[in-house]
Amino acid sequence: SILLLSCLTAFSQNSKIPSSIENIEVKIDSVLSLMTLEEKVGQLVQYNGSWDLTGPASELGSKQKEDNLKNGLVGSMLNVLSVEATREAQKLIMENSRMKIPLIFGYDVIHGYKTIFPVPLGETASWDLEAMELSARIAARESVAEGINWTFSPMIDVSRDARWGRIMEGSGEDPYLTSLVGVAKIKGYQGDDLAGDLTIAATAKHFAGYGFAEAGRDYNTVHLGENELHNTVLPPFKAAAEAGVATFMNSFNEIDGIPSTGNKYLQRDILKGDWDWKGFMVSDWGSITEMIYHGFAKDKKQASQIAINAGSDMDMEGGAYESSLAELVNEGTVDLALVDDAVRRVLRVKFKLGLFDDPYKYSNPEVKKKISYEDHRKVARTIAAKSIVLLKNEKELLPIKPKVKSIAVIGPLANDKDAPIGNWRAQGEANSAVSVVEGIKNAVGKDVKVKYSLGTTLGTSERGFLLPLEINKTDRSGFKDAIELAKNSELVVMVLGEDAFQAGEGRSQAKISLAGLQQELLEEIKKVNSNIVLVLINGRPMEISWASENIPAIVVAWQLGTESGNAIADVLFGKYNPSGKLPVSFPRLVGQEPLYYNQKNTGRPSNDQHVTYSHYTDVKKDALYPFGYGLSYTQFEYGEVQLSGSEMSSEKNIEAQITIKNTGKVKGKEVVQLYLQDIIASRTRPIKELKGFQLVELEPGESKTVTFPITKKMLEFYTANRVWEAEDGDFNIFVGGNSRDLKSSEFTFKN
Ligand code: BGC
Repeated sequence: SILLLSCLTAFSQNSKIPSSIENIEVKIDSVLSLMTLEEKVGQLVQYNGSWDLTGPASELGSKQKEDNLKNGLVGSMLNVLSVEATREAQKLIMENSRMKIPLIFGYDVIHGYKTIFPVPLGETASWDLEAMELSARIAARESVAEGINWTFSPMIDVSRDARWGRIMEGSGEDPYLTSLVGVAKIKGYQGDDLAGDLTIAATAKHFAGYGFAEAGRDYNTVHLGENELHNTVLPPFKAAAEAGVATFMNSFNEIDGIPSTGNKYLQRDILKGDWDWKGFMVSDWGSITEMIYHGFAKDKKQASQIAINAGSDMDMEGGAYESSLAELVNEGTVDLALVDDAVRRVLRVKFKLGLFDDPYKYSNPEVKKKISYEDHRKVARTIAAKSIVLLKNEKELLPIKPKVKSIAVIGPLANDKDAPIGNWRAQGEANSAVSVVEGIKNAVGKDVKVKYSLGTTLGTSERGFLLPLEINKTDRSGFKDAIELAKNSELVVMVLGEDAFQAGEGRSQAKISLAGLQQELLEEIKKVNSNIVLVLINGRPMEISWASENIPAIVVAWQLGTESGNAIADVLFGKYNPSGKLPVSFPRLVGQEPLYYNQKNTGRPSNDQHVTYSHYTDVKKDALYPFGYGLSYTQFEYGEVQLSGSEMSSEKNIEAQITIKNTGKVKGKEVVQLYLQDIIASRTRPIKELKGFQLVELEPGESKTVTFPITKKMLEFYTANRVWEAEDGDFNIFVGGNSRDLKSSEFTFKN
């Protein structure tokens, strides 16, 4: 963490604030007053960078696009992927257009640009906000080196459904954790000020409700009542707005009959009204035009009218604003003031980025020379290790003992250098990760035999966007070799899970178990050698009930990025004592989805305070591994929760204290979690909600007392009065190392 700290300090010293930051509003006014209507609309148009690919809804060919750039009729481009290319595009504007308003260049830099960090769901499992801020800062630096000044990240859609492919891109099922991670990411990308040298604009997406797609099917209809909308979905976005995120992106889905892109209540009333947020809203890819297919607008013109009214400022590659917004204003259907407001917002971000001072600020080939990709890899390894979650560790298999002299590394992902790079990999190269086999070989001495066998293929590679999985269900030709190897080895490390593109956009699945013949292979290996450590490479929670009963050690390694194999080896051999905790529940059966810890009680009393009554008759009702769960190579013993008082009020906060002792033999880090329950309220409340956490490192035998201030803010929620407030009444407080095993106490609050 010294490395982490010194990196952060070095980065912040680099920032210098250009003079243009003062009086930006005055400058915007003067620019705006000189612009024609067409030029204004141009600021709201975003083109895709690869000009052969005109996008699903665009009718413009490349020549036309080039002319439009020269005429200053484009405000932004996405997917322009080199310093040289961004410079070329910028030159078209700067050297030909009347107003010379620089473009901003967006790209999906989701978990790193070249140096790939864990997928966001995995990285969230570290619960290490400083680390997450740092990986975002590194991604920003590498982006700037390639001409990018705007990332479409963080995705802060709360998601409770492991079937949803995009669960990998977010921070899981909890709104509080998602909020904190989102803010850390935004700080990492943007720095203290957008004007910083090696920082970029961030995007809070997708506004809103996208993670609640019915049955986890991507793009699907969302049914979301006002309680869940305000108390679960919106809080991370509010936190992002407060943190000063430069842009928002709206979403493909509808909520209760209204596509989010055309949702005035969300965008104008809440975000730009109540929250008084000043950045700009970019549509999702073609989402303005998509309102036609939703059955909400008859053509692009009507879609544009709805979108601009609703507060969608920029049209991503949809061709709607470009083709009809000026006309709508000219005929008086759309108020020019709405267009002005949208343009003002776009210009504001451009000013803040320093683009009016130097339009080529971000397309400077010299920047690359300043970047140490080697240092970034070191940080990537540390963060990857922190993201690993140990689910089970019996027979003392882990950490692997020096006396173990033969290790079989088996499975379709054991030597796979691509799966760990994951989806949304920006310019992370294919097959560029350190594989588990490589990581283990790097970690052991010459006297340890490390042998690899594929066992079975997943058969899922080379899959195009939205194509169904082609799973290998028949080819068992690799079984024999793998079984033979397992038989002759002291320990087996089985590496199973998902390929790089099984999770991600358009990658929803009805099954979340081990695809293809992986389960069968695991069972066969178990018959000849039961000393198995199962390492999962995964972008979503998986159904692993059999493994959980039959395999002694299980490690969740997500898709950890460039340094994956080394980080996994760090954990397997005990160089890093695992400290990750699940940001999502792992179900027993996929049929339990959506499954999440912060459920609500029903009218039936539950016999378990931590799981509600509602259940199926053919599966236990709780999660296989709950939210917040994760083991260490040491053990932590929790004392009782001590409250400084049993009554609190607006004037008088109380504190909760708990003592944690490391009762094991090695140093370890624990994520101490605080949950609250508002027992009786004007709207029914979840059985518990995460409200705080602290990372505590303890030497063997050492104890520490952790203090959590309980504030009124923690008790607030969107009440039946449709405001955020804390209601008088009794509260339960829970503290522990996961969302199930908790010590509790209670207190009363009075306003
Ligand atoms: C995704 C967005 C992404 C955009 C641009 C869309 O399909 O939903 O999250 O930022 O494409 O690539």
